[in-house]
Amino acid sequence: MLDQIRRCVRCGACRAVCPSFEVMGWESFNTRGRMMIIKRMLEERDGSWALDSIGTCTTCALCAQMCPAGVKSSKLVEDARRVLASRDIIGEWQRTIRDNISKTGNSLGESRGRREWLSLLGSRAFKERKERAESVYFAGCMASYRYPETAARTFEILSGFGVALLPAEQCCGSPLLRTGLDASGCMEENLRQIREMDADLVITGCAGCYTTLKNDYPGVNVVSVAEFLADHISEIEIRPLDITVAYHDPCHLGRMNGIFEPPRKVIKEICELEEMDKNRELARCCGGGGGVRAGYRDISLKIARRRLADAPPEVNYIVTACPMCVRNLNDAGGYGKIIDLVDLVAIAGRG
Ligand code: SF4
Ligand code: SF4
Repeated sequence: MLDQIRRCVRCGACRAVCPSFEVMGWESFNTRGRMMIIKRMLEERDGSWALDSIGTCTTCALCAQMCPAGVKSSKLVEDARRVLASRDIIGEWQRTIRDNISKTGNSLGESRGRREWLSLLGSRAFKERKERAESVYFAGCMASYRYPETAARTFEILSGFGVALLPAEQCCGSPLLRTGLDASGCMEENLRQIREMDADLVITGCAGCYTTLKNDYPGVNVVSVAEFLADHISEIEIRPLDITVAYHDPCHLGRMNGIFEPPRKVIKEICELEEMDKNRELARCCGGGGGVRAGYRDISLKIARRRLADAPPEVNYIVTACPMCVRNLNDAGGYGKIIDLVDLVAIAGRG
């Protein structure tokens, strides 16, 4: 960690883009300030005073994108959170996420069945779905419990290509890892099921699940639903729509994993696409990631409102490829105008 901090030349390029600094305005809420705070926190035994500064980073990595010294600041923030957690300095919201996942297997603490959305499948897809396959759809907590229609629409498409579900999917571990907590329990359980099914491909529609399965699980081959749709769009029954949409790049899909074009390809097969004011590598964060929505809802929604202001006026929808972005942007004043890419495909499927 110290080698990353020593790289920083204090230029402030990160300060100009940090979404939490934009809404908070204090040096301790931008990357450069967080560097100083992390340095001091490492030098002492306590560090509870650092929790809010370190906790309000959305891990969007926009600062790392801008940094001329190559500081991987979002990774540094996650490491700093791990140090605080090892000293048992965590927020109440982190405790809640940890308890939720250990008790219910999902970050939302839902005691309902994770697969209840299967009841929304069309009867043919329900009857013909496979229990085992080489490819599995990993729905994630947010889609399973907050966007069951989107989960069902996604699986309806994927099951047409022979994709199955894990028998007892758990949280991918992202909310734990991004906030510095141990995720080995749920990760090992998912990995065991993936291996038991002998699946060689995991397909996920959540940017958080995507980056976690791809970068934190050993040896798992992962594609996003956006990539899958882009590869198979000619085989899916859709009709062009006379509408215009903008595309919001989820940080953990776009900037962090380079998936920019596949969702745009799918959209352009369906309707007109207009770009957000900040897009691709420079896309502004929705404010929901890194535990900020869970721990600092006000800051999270203020960041989201700024992102909404980047949308071109007059678009019919803002399309994205992550249920967390859908949730946070709609909560911040999107009022249902933010939809998942799969929902757009479903509208085009209805003609
Ligand atoms: S990762 Fe995003 S929120 Fe965190 S310090 Fe960098 S720009 Fe700010
Ligand atoms: S952009 Fe990089 S070098 Fe410049 S202040 Fe931020 S972290 Fe330091």
